[in-house]
Amino acid sequence: MKIHNSIESLQKELLPFLKDCKSIGFVPTMGALHKGHVSLVEQACKENECVVVSIFVNPTQFNNAKDLEKYPRTIEGDIALLKNVKGNIFVFLPNASDLYQDQIISKKYDFSGIENEMEGKHRQGHFDGVGTVLNIFFRTVKPNKAYFGEKDFQQLQIVKKLVEIENLPVKIIGCPIVREASGLAMSSRNKRLDIEALNEATLIYKTLSEVKVKFQKLSISELNLLVKNKFNNNDVLSLEYFEIADVSTLKTALDKKKNTKYRAFIASFIDGVRLIDNMALN
Ligand code: AMP
Repeated sequence: MKIHNSIESLQKELLPFLKDCKSIGFVPTMGALHKGHVSLVEQACKENECVVVSIFVNPTQFNNAKDLEKYPRTIEGDIALLKNVKGNIFVFLPNASDLYQDQIISKKYDFSGIENEMEGKHRQGHFDGVGTVLNIFFRTVKPNKAYFGEKDFQQLQIVKKLVEIENLPVKIIGCPIVREASGLAMSSRNKRLDIEALNEATLIYKTLSEVKVKFQKLSISELNLLVKNKFNNNDVLSLEYFEIADVSTLKTALDKKKNTKYRAFIASFIDGVRLIDNMALN
């Protein structure tokens, strides 16, 4: 495993792979790595001759300065975790000015409306920041395949749109959500929670699971009410949103239509930490 801090040294490393048409995999992350990230890196290592794992807390995708400041940074632990993964891994640790060159600002994107749903409603400009940094990364790393978790399902759909818009020759691969034994989706933000909060936070997974079980029998408005009540009865978690959405558009579903795939999405706060999760319903 090699570590590169500059675009120049990473590109020098990757040049022989490009020349020989060897497959480059890419896993972008913001660090504070856990088994969810590792699952992406493992899949990428199986499917490519080398894998670039970037660790970069991207300032332009945070709409809240405190959230950016408090985002966990555990670079030594991250490197130790990646050393345990079998594969030809290059860790890329760019700095913001190198990556963005002169101005650390977002490009404005039209992702066909997906950017205005759920996370987009609650995190103004978030997906412009995600699109901007990934566009730079894709043009820098030139991967054949890039790996994203379904944990951030809306982001995964945005990235698929981004590569169409920017006409980038990269295949986007979605990977399943990795969970703790309790069902809680693994997240870097879980590192900011104590044991009690981690235990309480399992309400998110339990709720999604219940919605999935009851999806065929109950209407969407009944399910919305059920979830609202569950969170109202909990003093520790506050619900930012619960939505059942059509997977193809991510628009809020008001009723169930035939031949349509649905997913349930939750964003919730606990002890000042924002957690998101989602689950396929049919
Ligand atoms: P992040 O570091 O949070 O930006 O995440 C980097 C990548 O890891 C994104 O594609 C996430 O969707 C993915 N990821 C984060 N948590 C999980 C998880 N629990 N299971 C699967 N993928 C995940």
